[in-house]
Amino acid sequence: MSQFHCSCGFAIDDPESFADHLVWVFDRNDDIGTDGHPHAEITHPNSSTHQCHCGYATTDPVDLNDHLLLVVIPPDNMGLDGARHVPIDPTTPSRWYVSRPADN
Ligand SMILES: [Zn+2]
Ligand SMILES: [Zn+2]
Repeated sequence: MSQFHCSCGFAIDDPESFADHLVWVFDRNDDIGTDGHPHAEITHPNSSTHQCHCGYATTDPVDLNDHLLLVVIPPDNMGLDGARHVPIDPTTPSRWYVSRPADN
């Protein structure tokens, strides 16, 4: 039994690989989030702050990666492949759930 499950059938134990799956199905590679604004990391040499184009800033690179993932996930969780991708395992970190999932 894998630890992380997606509603499309994808299942894996490694959280990073699961995040990679979500990036794969949602990221349009143009750095434009679902809010229509560009999101990409702005590198600050000699700084521990990781900042996004939109103004989001954090000292934790994992938090920035989560931010970059969340901004490309549409409210209806519809992936670029036309299938819905919703984490369906309750052990999945809550931050990966979209706040307003579409009605089934
Ligand atoms: Zn951003
Ligand atoms: Zn999926």
